[in-house]
Amino acid sequence: MITRNDLANLIFPDITETIEDLEKRYPERKLKEGSYVTRFAPSPTGFLHTGSLFTAMIAHKIAKDTDGIFYIRLEDTDSKREVEGSAGKLIDQLEKFNILPNEGFLGKEEKGIYGPYKQSLRRDIYRTVIKQMIIDDLAYPCFATPEDLEKLREEQTALKEITGYYGKYAIYRNLSVEEAYNKIQNNEPYVIRFKSKGDHNNKIKVKDMIRGELELTQNDQDIVILKSDGLPTYHFAHVVDDHFMRTNLVTRGEEWLPSLPLHIEMFSALHFKAPKYAHLPVIMKMEDEKRRKLSKRKDPEASVDYFLEKGYEPYSLLVYLMTIANSNYEDYIVTSKDLNIDNFKYSFKKMSLDGALFDNEKLNFYAKEILSRMKKEEIASKSYEWARTYDLKLKEFIEKDYSRYETILNIEREKKNPRKDYAKYSDIYPIISFFDNDEFNNLVKSNGFDFNKNIDKELIKEFLINYPSFIKLDEDESSWYNKTKECAEKVGFCVDMKAYKADPSLYKGSINDACEILRVVITTRRVTPNLFAILSILKEEEIKRRIDLAISSL
Ligand code: GLU
Repeated sequence: MITRNDLANLIFPDITETIEDLEKRYPERKLKEGSYVTRFAPSPTGFLHTGSLFTAMIAHKIAKDTDGIFYIRLEDTDSKREVEGSAGKLIDQLEKFNILPNEGFLGKEEKGIYGPYKQSLRRDIYRTVIKQMIIDDLAYPCFATPEDLEKLREEQTALKEITGYYGKYAIYRNLSVEEAYNKIQNNEPYVIRFKSKGDHNNKIKVKDMIRGELELTQNDQDIVILKSDGLPTYHFAHVVDDHFMRTNLVTRGEEWLPSLPLHIEMFSALHFKAPKYAHLPVIMKMEDEKRRKLSKRKDPEASVDYFLEKGYEPYSLLVYLMTIANSNYEDYIVTSKDLNIDNFKYSFKKMSLDGALFDNEKLNFYAKEILSRMKKEEIASKSYEWARTYDLKLKEFIEKDYSRYETILNIEREKKNPRKDYAKYSDIYPIISFFDNDEFNNLVKSNGFDFNKNIDKELIKEFLINYPSFIKLDEDESSWYNKTKECAEKVGFCVDMKAYKADPSLYKGSINDACEILRVVITTRRVTPNLFAILSILKEEEIKRRIDLAISSL
């Protein structure tokens, strides 16, 4: 008589190890009470999705907060969807965000004793477990063809039954061992399925760290655990890997919540202790007043690359994502004024459940805050680094005079409430390009000077003709301002703002109007950062040249 042992040996003749051997090879981790072993388990299918960065950040943070372990596992069992080179890129990108694993897949090599951390290299581990499952009648070979499955689906749909491969519809689950053995010997193609003991009429209680206790429908699907290409499916691979890598907390997207009963059933069938689970909210976007998932196809911000290309400081995206992850963090920022994620303790309690909404304005708010807190040296070097890849105009500008660039970035920076002009590095050049003389000429050519139409042109001209002999930049701001006032008063502007406000009709304009004229002349714009700082950087000769240009335009 042919036994299940014979069948298992026929399918896996080369497997000599057992589950016990694996248990010994991958021992329980010695960690202190309360430490979490978490992981990020990306599939190399193209690019790092913003939602994936979000889950990686949280897994990393929890492990760090609890003195645990955070590792990376590459889930590359779907060879059809794999994009070459994307695995290494994922690791490089995580590095930019300082999400560094304690162990795991690191691109070219790997680190740690629970490996291999790349699923395609773990074939024999999965096969070892499945061999035992066949012996224990927890799994069986299934010979259904795609046409058989399609027919089954049609039949179930017509009968208004739940579709899938389960119960009485699972035609190969009760095939005799002998028949299965013969079919395999006859080279009939097959997959291996899990033999579920569940019933979809039952509900089971499962616990999620974020959502609490949930009642979900019991699994009864005999899902495929080993595909015909010899690689496992996600459902099965994650059970084996999270067990033998000794993960004790799985943090993953909420799209996996419906399959949790299946996963729990497999852990229990294998007598493995199931990890805790936390299903994280998906990042959503508003469109036509409706919420929808950030979409790879429609939304550039679904890809982390987008933020890197735009020149967002990686940390600012993390800060923003952490505020969506945990409202505790925002409370922490408000009370402490500290943005350091490491200094705050993450908790599942304040996690939003109903999909986190991506809010660009809020991202910009934090991004500006972070850039405004940098010292000039830091923002200069980081923006230069970025510009070398993404913004050649800025790069050229910086390379003309690096220390002048630092000085420009330092305008209204080293003070209690620094200016918040820039959210991202790509904001810099459009704001400061007027400092470049050629670029300034181009601006004048294309936009002209944006003078206030309410101020008499002749007055502007007169003020500008007089101004060169009043330029005073060798002392402090107040001596420059006093000289500017002198010039303004000479041509008829009111320099006493109180008097001016009392009755503006008595004057041709005020000192503020005079300063605005200067702003327009040297930048083409009416709103600029500190005027004295700008004038000091441009220097007298260039100021005079710009005054002449403005006069000839009037
Ligand atoms: N490879 C799965 C995914 O990319 C991982 C899910 C998990 O973290 O378990 O969605």
